[in-house]
Amino acid sequence: MSKKILVWFRNDLRLHDNEMLVEAIAKSDSILPVYILDPRQFVETKYGTLKTGSIRAQFTLESVLGLRHSLKQIGGNLLIVTGSPEDIVPQLVQEYEITEVYHHREVAREETHVSALVENALWKLRINLKHFIGHTLYNKEDLPFPIKDIPDAFNQFKKKIERDSIIKPCFAAPDRINVAEVIDWGTLPELAELNLLQQAQDKRSDLEFLGGEAEGLAHLQKVILLMQQAATSKNLILASKLSAWLAIGCLSPRKVYWEIKKMEGVPNTKAMFNHILLGLLWRDYFRFMFKKYGNTFFSPNGFGSQGLVDVENEQENFSKWKNAQTGFAVVDAVMTELNTTGFISNVARQTAALYLINNLEVSWVFGAAYFEEKLIDYNPASNWGNWANVAGVGNDQKSKSVFDLDKNIKNLDPKGNYALTWSS
Ligand SMILES: Cc1cc2nc3c(=O)[nH]c(=O)nc-3n(C[C@H](O)[C@H](O)[C@H](O)COP(=O)(O)OP(=O)(O)OC[C@H]3O[C@@H](n4cnc5c(N)ncnc54)[C@H](O)[C@@H]3O)c2cc1C
Repeated sequence: MSKKILVWFRNDLRLHDNEMLVEAIAKSDSILPVYILDPRQFVETKYGTLKTGSIRAQFTLESVLGLRHSLKQIGGNLLIVTGSPEDIVPQLVQEYEITEVYHHREVAREETHVSALVENALWKLRINLKHFIGHTLYNKEDLPFPIKDIPDAFNQFKKKIERDSIIKPCFAAPDRINVAEVIDWGTLPELAELNLLQQAQDKRSDLEFLGGEAEGLAHLQKVILLMQQAATSKNLILASKLSAWLAIGCLSPRKVYWEIKKMEGVPNTKAMFNHILLGLLWRDYFRFMFKKYGNTFFSPNGFGSQGLVDVENEQENFSKWKNAQTGFAVVDAVMTELNTTGFISNVARQTAALYLINNLEVSWVFGAAYFEEKLIDYNPASNWGNWANVAGVGNDQKSKSVFDLDKNIKNLDPKGNYALTWSS
């Protein structure tokens, strides 16, 4: 019997640095690349928010089509199906006589629950689900400690990992692929079919986020250009705005690392290199913390006890915050930018979170759920991990005292221009 591997794409929508794909091609006669759009990703949450809002939904659809395009360019295609993976994957296995299924392992509870259901269903068919690791800069296997011993304090984690671990080279993107014979490769739903309305690009935003590996790689090249220009630039921009492509896996963190590393030695690029690397380490840290502690990050009291919650006015205050109607200009500007573009800077995220938690006395989990709906770069570990930290219920006790709303506002809007630009 010929060996046919089903490659289940999730948040890894790329050809470059994709070990799962490379191994599937090497170990099979043909592969079946599949993307499953799960309607559960678009439902309302217990916080009254949506799991996915229109801006990220649009970005996701573009990224999936981008992957199909990339696969077609090397002689393949992408099967697109809507439904629950635990139903779809076993059906496809039987229909296409698949001998093994590959996917990238996730860390948050809903994502791991889905893969556990798929694994169980495949088990009954005596088919193996092989897990790959491909979301982090450092591989779990290369860490100098087992997951249970990873330091809780970010600074210790950073120090140890940089001293004792390595960043592997990227896997080359395949240039040929042999896919199974499929009569109908399927289509993606329109946003309207997901009960979402397309949002036009806000003219105040300086970047149009277009989903897809090609767009992600093109944006990475713009970041490299920014680094080159740093020598003569008066206003040094450190933030890369790469997060949306990283979150859905159109870019691998290793690709980002090795590309920006090529700039080593070019004068004045060090600050931006260090800034991006620090961000990637935070990203790894939260993923590993989710692996270590699992669901604790989703609980209001997390690793401690959350502060005061004004239960009586919680819903009203949450609503004012979401709708940029708190009356506090900078926070309203942040929420307007978030609502209209899906992207805000790290300092803006902290500002909005601090105000919601400390000034409006709303439980931080409502804020985290709203960011989950709105952020174009949402990923569970980075979002819920950062929120828990800002709320003082994260597992890194040192991070409790570092947040200061006044300092943040000075950083974000020293001259009041930001609030003016984003006054709705
Ligand atoms: C309340 C709150 C919620 C957040 N939710 C998310 C989220 O859902 N998804 C997300 O990717 N980031 C999240 N962040 C982290 C951070 O704000 C964004 O990653 C960053 O602003 C993206 O901008 P950038 O691409 O210019 O980052 P850069 O500063 O250029 O950093 C490079 C990359 O490192 C990663 N990174 C940077 N800072 C962090 C951080 N603190 N934690 C985790 N990863 C980081 C991102 O992937 C980013 O693209 C959140 C932060 C806060 C305070």
